[in-house]
Amino acid sequence: MRYETVIGLEVHAQLSTDSKIFCGCSTTFGAEPNTQTCPICLGMPGVLPVLNKKAVEYAIRMALAVHCEVNERSIFARKNYFYPDLPKGYQISQYEEPLAQKGWVEVNLEDGTRKYIRINRIHLEEDAGKSVHAEEYVSENESLIDFNRCGVPLIEIVSEPDIRSPEEARLYLTKVRQLVRWLSICDGNMEEGSLRCDANISLRPEGAEKLGVRTELKNMNSFRSVERALAFEVKRQTSILEKSGKVLQETLLWDKANNIALPMRGKEEAHDYRYFPEPDLVPLIVKKEWKDKIQKSLPEMPDERKLRWAKKIGIPEYDASVLTEEKSVADYFEAVVDHVKDAKQASNWVMGEALRILKEEKLDINELKIRPSQLADIIKLVEEGKISRRAGKAVFNKVAHTGATPEKVVEELGLVQLSDSSKLDEIITSVIEKHPVEVQKFLKGRKGLLGFFMGEVMKATNGKANPKVVNEILRKRLKDD
Ligand SMILES: [Zn+2]
Repeated sequence: MRYETVIGLEVHAQLSTDSKIFCGCSTTFGAEPNTQTCPICLGMPGVLPVLNKKAVEYAIRMALAVHCEVNERSIFARKNYFYPDLPKGYQISQYEEPLAQKGWVEVNLEDGTRKYIRINRIHLEEDAGKSVHAEEYVSENESLIDFNRCGVPLIEIVSEPDIRSPEEARLYLTKVRQLVRWLSICDGNMEEGSLRCDANISLRPEGAEKLGVRTELKNMNSFRSVERALAFEVKRQTSILEKSGKVLQETLLWDKANNIALPMRGKEEAHDYRYFPEPDLVPLIVKKEWKDKIQKSLPEMPDERKLRWAKKIGIPEYDASVLTEEKSVADYFEAVVDHVKDAKQASNWVMGEALRILKEEKLDINELKIRPSQLADIIKLVEEGKISRRAGKAVFNKVAHTGATPEKVVEELGLVQLSDSSKLDEIITSVIEKHPVEVQKFLKGRKGLLGFFMGEVMKATNGKANPKVVNEILRKRLKDD
């Protein structure tokens, strides 16, 4: 029997507000443990939470970007459970009446088709603290607690079970990360935990309506882990079903080091949540005017931008996808295009040279010293044949690190290309005279020798000869001789 995989993802995104969701404590990552806390986020008796408006605005930005209906009224609830990193004994979240519902995310699958993954809901909640089990600090049976993360604002984005393979799950998650970064509401850093993902997964016989028993996968902190953990679970559930066994509904933790998902140990870790309305917070009311204002403030989203590029500047879809992964890169590319004739050239240079340096040196494009107009100047120098493409790359490197003007760098490095045909003609004459045997062979049909002559001319000019001009002269001369 063939089985169909059914996956739903719950993504938690930490909102990049300066302060926490219900108090004024800082949210900066990496501070000394327990230095960013106050009685409110530690849940002392008698304190009152006050909702951070910016966090709500960020959540609405995401909700609107993924086409959700934003509810005019939503309610905060207490999600009660016991865990050492949760000093209050409950987490403030939204349960029955979330901030937003019923949206969708468009995902481009690798076979080129588009797929819409429905969003069930987006709600606001606060983060819990962090247990530190690092062995350099503590002995085997000890843990330390850092409460800095308590009360950091989160949105939880819950998808419908529309995902059909581990690969689709990775693509969906990639898209969600792209969107939160594009909207500047979350840095999307999975290693630091600003973006986290849990998955529900079940199998059912192909063609069946009814969902199979699902398991929940946790502890996947990279795109690769998500894909691998889900692939592992598809295989495990398949082998159980093939032996007519029963999949147990349980929570599994992904063990990255051993490539295996194991059930959570002990009942105390399987939370038995109890929700009730948060008595210290009034209902959250989002008026239409505010929602409309946020809608108007949204940037042009990556898919819209790709569409506009396809219509107006005509670069290949692959290029457009790469260039819209980050908004800063997309903006940079557009600024280059403003200055050059050939958008494809601009795309080649941004994708090839700029993205390479960003990756190698772990930089943001705004940290590159080469401004879009300077890159455009380099492209023009190459297009006009003043410097070779290779020299252009050297100039790019230098300008990217120093910010000097391209013309000056070309001069400094002595990269001006030799395009003067009378000068080149002289050099070519001497090359031809030096190699009579090769000339004879060429004339008898060994056309591949053209490359040999090109190489000799390049040697004679220290690589500065304009290959296009050399090629033209060589072809002409080798016919005449
Ligand atoms: Zn606080």
